Amino acid sequence: MKPTMAGLILLALGALCVGAEQNLDPQAMTPREFDCVDTFNSLAGFVMLRCSLIAPEPRDARLLDAAKRVLLDHRFAQSRDFADLNLSFCPLLRGTGMVPAANRIYLDDGLRGSSAEGLAEVLAHEAVHVRQLNTLGERDFKCRYVAQMSACGGCQDRRHPLEAEAYAAQDLVRNTLLRAHGITPPPAPK
Ligand SMILES: [Zn+2]
Repeated sequence: MKPTMAGLILLALGALCVGAEQNLDPQAMTPREFDCVDTFNSLAGFVMLRCSLIAPEPRDARLLDAAKRVLLDHRFAQSRDFADLNLSFCPLLRGTGMVPAANRIYLDDGLRGSSAEGLAEVLAHEAVHVRQLNTLGERDFKCRYVAQMSACGGCQDRRHPLEAEAYAAQDLVRNTLLRAHGITPPPAPK
């Protein structure tokens, strides 16, 4: 999930402006009116609209299936994890993947040049966000994501708790695959 902070700020301002139009008393427009779900959905809706216009390429399905197979073969996932999951490539503004809604993962189209194993580690990261969303529930996940991002100054790296969990899964997949090729993994990033 990779919204830009500038985008979040603009969206938050947009949400507040909508609140102001609905409430004629400007003094009543307080931060309590900030709706984290609206903020998340505004950004996700923009990405989904853009990505809906991107047609899949013929080789996408083969690459995505190969990446899924890597995760299945190494027991990082089970078939049911992918049963209702919509996966597609899209040019993302930032980052390598995004979960804009339940059961949907967008992968940056730059990953079309990746190996199946390279794509698998990103897929493992995004699959954690899908699980977080399903476990927490859509509203709680979206609110936590926005709140944690705000708390760390707009970060979406390992300082963001929901992202830290996803990066840990990504590291585990990468390190396992490196070891399977006889390569010692580098130290974990801080
Ligand atoms: Zn993430």
